[in-house]
Order: sequence, then C-alpha cells, then structure tokens
Amino acid sequence: VSFSSLSLSEKLLSVVAQKGYQQPTAIQAEAIPAILAGRDIMASAQTGTGKTAAFTLPLLQRLIDKSSSDEQSKAKRASVLVLAPTRELAVQVNTNVSQYAVNTDVSSIVIYGGVSIDAQATKLAAGVDVIVATPGRLLDHVRRGTLNLSDIEYLVFDEADRMLDMGFMDEINAILKQLPAKRQTLLFSATFSSAIFELSKKLLQKPLRIEV
Ligand code: AMP
Repeated sequence: VSFSSLSLSEKLLSVVAQKGYQQPTAIQAEAIPAILAGRDIMASAQTGTGKTAAFTLPLLQRLIDKSSSDEQSKAKRASVLVLAPTRELAVQVNTNVSQYAVNTDVSSIVIYGGVSIDAQATKLAAGVDVIVATPGRLLDHVRRGTLNLSDIEYLVFDEADRMLDMGFMDEINAILKQLPAKRQTLLFSATFSSAIFELSKKLLQKPLRIEV
C-alpha cells in the first residue's frame, strides 16, 4: 500500500512526504480507509506504530472535505475531540495534528489541567476544529460553560487503557453525556482488558478490530 492510494488530499500527502514517510505503517494502512469510510475502530497499538497519524490523517481529510462543501463558514464549533490520559500525550498529539494540518484551514487546541483555565477558555471562544484534551480539564470547561460539545462528530480515545488505569472512568462517562449519540468513535489502546471491552461495547458501533 502507498500513501497516494489512500484517498488523502495533496495537502496532507505533501506533509507526509516532507516528513519522509515512505509508506503507511500497518495500522495506518488498515485504519485510514476504514476511518474515511465512516467506521468505528477498536485498535490495539503501542506507541511507535504510527497510531497518531492513523487517526489524524483521515480525520483531517474529513474536515477538509466538509469545509469545501460548506457554503458559508460559520463560527467554528469543534467537531473532533481526542481524549488522552496525560498532558504529555495530549501535547504530543496536538503537535502532530497541527503539523499534519499545516496546509489546511483546520485549527486545533490542546487542553490540560495545571495551567490557567481562563487562557484556554479565551482560545476556545475564538473557535477551533479539533480539541485534544485530558478528561478532567475538559470537563471543567464543560461545567463552566466555556465549551460546548454538541457538535462533536468524531471522538478518539488515545491510550484508553491508561485512561482507565488513571481512574478517568467517571470523567469519561460525564463527557459522553455531552456528546451527540450520532458520531464516529475510534478507540486506541495498548492492551485490551475486560474493562476496555466493557467501554468499547458502550462506545463503539460495529467496530473494525485492528491488531498490529
Ligand atoms: P506514534 O506511534 O503515533 O507515536 O508514531 C511514532 C513515530 O513514527 C512518530 O515519530 C511518527 O512521526 C513516525 N511515523 C508515523 N507514521 C510513519 C510512517 N508511515 N513512516 C515512517 N514513520 C512514521
């Protein structure tokens, strides 16, 4: 499989080429077409497998397709939410999103605790397409009314097993209540425990299972 056979726009392919990627990794080759086709995904993937690009590239493609079909662009409400267990991972994913999106109009923000909430609220109010967040601080924004999740169309769990290990189940449940039922959900986890299977049953509809 080559990147150019994956139905990604030149805006994304040129970044991939610039980064020197020769061909999609195993998880990218399986996940990118499935995500573009609208499927839910349950993937077991360790760090280093290329999992970040496996969800970022097709989701950016879907945002590009949507923005070109929009007649008028209204004030942006986030349509992609990526949940990550730690600030470090959230920052890393957001860095990837902004690098892959460099030739597009897609904007992203990273949200995590331990820093000023007001500065984040100001950025959220300006409008953004993609939010990468840790669960606790994301929920703080929802509860303060500085974030509305009712336009989220794509939900990604990155390192879902670590999120459960860190005790984020209550926050995850509270976040899920704020999201539209009709959405595409992608779950990535290094390991699959029974707790992850329980979560996936609640979250995913006819997911494609990917193991790399
Ligand atoms: P990740 O598993 O998402 O943390 O990615 C691990 C590393 O692999 C990152 O440094 C990426 O830049 C790199 N990477 C992602 N996709 C590819 C690819 N198709 N070819 C070569 N390197 C890649």
